[in-house]
Amino acid sequence: MPEGPSLIIVKENISSFIGKKIIAANGNARIDLTKLKGKKIRDIRTWGKHLLIILENVTLRIHFLMFGSYSVDAQTKPDRSVRLHLSFRKGELFFYTCAVKELDGDPDDSYDWEADVMSDRWNPARARRKLKKMPDEMVCDALLDQDVFAGVGNIIKNEVLYRIFLHPETLVGDVPPRKLTQLINEARNYSFDFLKWKRVFVLRKHWLAHTKKTCKRCDLPFIKKHCGKRQRRTFFCENCQKFYGQNAEGRR
Ligand SMILES: [Zn+2]
Repeated sequence: MPEGPSLIIVKENISSFIGKKIIAANGNARIDLTKLKGKKIRDIRTWGKHLLIILENVTLRIHFLMFGSYSVDAQTKPDRSVRLHLSFRKGELFFYTCAVKELDGDPDDSYDWEADVMSDRWNPARARRKLKKMPDEMVCDALLDQDVFAGVGNIIKNEVLYRIFLHPETLVGDVPPRKLTQLINEARNYSFDFLKWKRVFVLRKHWLAHTKKTCKRCDLPFIKKHCGKRQRRTFFCENCQKFYGQNAEGRR
């Protein structure tokens, strides 16, 4: 599933369509395609894992889900995968195997930009207040909560927890204040590192925890476990990622 930084790259790759008029819209998305014809793309933005194509009076929200993708000018997937195909006087845009929704009105009314880790308006103090209200969540679940950290996905989660030496099953309420500050800061910092590496195709090379077998800091095997209520793959080192809270000693 593309995480927030990957969406920024999609946005950049299709930004040349801003200001262009749609001359035809096709595909099997369950939206009223007829009303897209003749509309101009006013802007393209992202919120977390959502790509927003802003037209006059309506915004198309594209969520790539697990296997979604896109292409510019040439169709690269079979017809049945094409959810949305937009044609312009010059150029075409294809979106495959994704969820397409229409949002009425101004996206500023429906989106909390302060929750988006990639946004200029990201607000770490608000993220902290939200975390305070979920003391019983494990940090591995809290990081994936799109209301708190929009854009953070499983790779970012694993790498952030490794970076800050924090055990994924620690409850938010047990995380010491300074560690919580690190968690919030690194959710954004790592996302920008992810973007920088992804742009030059070296993201995987920089993974230290995600899909890894050995902790390089300790030279010990990583634990691979489907942690928390979300049950997403989590890779961590029990030796250097500290568990805070009750029974902490019993875990070592
Ligand atoms: Zn380690």
